[in-house]
Amino acid sequence: MPELPEVETVVNELRPKLKNNKIKAVRILLPKMVAMGPATLSNLRKPGEKVADEFTKTLKGLTISDVQRRAKMIIIDLAGKYAILVHLKMTGQLIFFGKKELDKQIRLLNIENSKPVHLPTKSTHVIFEFTDGSKLFYNDFRQFGYLKLVTDKELLQVPELQGYGPEPLEKHFTFSEFEKLLKRRSSAQIKPWLMDPTIIAGIGNIYSDEILYCAKVKPTRRVGSLKIEERKLLFKGIKKILQNAVDHYGSSVGDFVRPSGDWGTYGLLHKVYGRAGEKCKKCGSIIKSLKFNGRTGSFCPREQK
Ligand SMILES: [Zn+2]
Repeated sequence: MPELPEVETVVNELRPKLKNNKIKAVRILLPKMVAMGPATLSNLRKPGEKVADEFTKTLKGLTISDVQRRAKMIIIDLAGKYAILVHLKMTGQLIFFGKKELDKQIRLLNIENSKPVHLPTKSTHVIFEFTDGSKLFYNDFRQFGYLKLVTDKELLQVPELQGYGPEPLEKHFTFSEFEKLLKRRSSAQIKPWLMDPTIIAGIGNIYSDEILYCAKVKPTRRVGSLKIEERKLLFKGIKKILQNAVDHYGSSVGDFVRPSGDWGTYGLLHKVYGRAGEKCKKCGSIIKSLKFNGRTGSFCPREQK
């Protein structure tokens, strides 16, 4: 599942490609992937042909003015009138091909035997065609993601954009802000606490594992038990790991693909995530794992206290 660094990578790469690009047509191959208005969508949502028609008609001829991120939501601004909200959820992919790249082949899965394919594929559900001949493809194997078209006024009413904690990579997320957050849910274990989006936005299973390894803190520690030195290391770890992951275009674990069709390379640098049973790269101990609310967290039993 994409986390902050992956969504940031998508936004950083799409912004220069989509900005000032005018929509010629939108082809919706699977109507249930799109919606109009701010309401939350059910995973059991029904295909809506009428909604798909309205989505297409509204977007035709509009120009994209910016691409932004809030938590794990991608916000495509349309000249101060509308916005398209894209949530990749588990397996969503946004892939952009310029006019001369349309016959390019890419590998959609970061696994050994994944064959290069042309787009669209069976998992392509929405295609944006731009007046300059470029195209943006929305793929989603498991179909949990969505594209939601809202007016600028409705943007303030979108439930998924409410109640998020601070953006950890922003400058105003300081150590004193972090200290204030640590007073909330202080009896929680630190790993699920880091993954709580109402406390800090955008950290999931991969990066909570890596941040805790970096800070030498065991994932089961209670938030309230952390000493000042540990809290400082944790704060530094959040900034360092997330920024480093953004610099490496995220982790292509499973099906995260960059808009260019290339993979993120941060997965090669993981110290503990997904490495249970293997040797710690630093101290040689066997990486252990534990379940946290159904998710597997991995850690080095010697270095993390
Ligand atoms: Zn170790």
